[in-house]
Amino acid sequence: MTPARLGRPLIRLETVDSTNRVAAELAGQGAAEGTAVVAEVQTGGRGRLGRAWSSPRGGLWLTTILRPPATAGETVATLALVGGVAVAEAVGRLTGGLDRPPEVRVKWPNDVHLNGRKLAGILGQVCPPAAVLLGIGLNLNLSPDDLPSDVRALATSLGREAGRFMDPSASLEVLFAELSHWYGRWLGEGFAPIRRRCLDLSATIGRPVRVSGPDLEIEGEALDIMDDGALLVRAGGRDVVVRSGDVSVRTQ
Ligand code: ADP
Repeated sequence: MTPARLGRPLIRLETVDSTNRVAAELAGQGAAEGTAVVAEVQTGGRGRLGRAWSSPRGGLWLTTILRPPATAGETVATLALVGGVAVAEAVGRLTGGLDRPPEVRVKWPNDVHLNGRKLAGILGQVCPPAAVLLGIGLNLNLSPDDLPSDVRALATSLGREAGRFMDPSASLEVLFAELSHWYGRWLGEGFAPIRRRCLDLSATIGRPVRVSGPDLEIEGEALDIMDDGALLVRAGGRDVVVRSGDVSVRTQ
């Protein structure tokens, strides 16, 4: 099976509440794998656990419809990391020619950091009966002033770190090329090659972390990413498998 070229067809919108909402509607109407929705502005962009994702003008806000062979929880977790690796690789390609390319990292489970600040968030969601929506928010040419004050301090944009304006159409093309590549590998070879790339690009593996989740609060060392996309943390002498939660790297 030849994997779909993701981002085709591409539905371009000006202002929407959420590209995920529009993509879910299209998936429900039978839209093919690869169909993507991209908006200039989202008024109700969402991250994990219903958190708000600020999406003013100047970002890449998009959702791609995938139709993987299964839609179990592990599929969504590993596809979110496919998204993370693809974003990181796209950023690497877009900044590779610079004198001092910024440092890009995948931060488990669903973020990409640039020079230690949050550049992009990825959200995988099952869209019953047979689709997965891969939402990506990437701060392209935003100024920190465009973001709410609590987000501003932790976030950055590609243009800011690269020191120049990033062409939105060209950046989107590179992003879809990387997404198509890594999704194709996931379909053909499984999660293993994505896991390896994720470990290379990881912001957390081998570092002291604090993990807080709905029923979990631990401090330890991030050891590994597992075959199903979970994070393995050694805490208090035992290995803990973390499937959801917020991970922060401890500096002391
Ligand atoms: P987390 O970053 O903890 O994994 P999410 O991926 O769900 O959480 O993203 C939501 C969070 O990301 C928000 O609570 C906010 O702190 C932050 N955020 C919102 N919009 C942006 C943005 N445009 N750039 C960077 N961070 C953002």
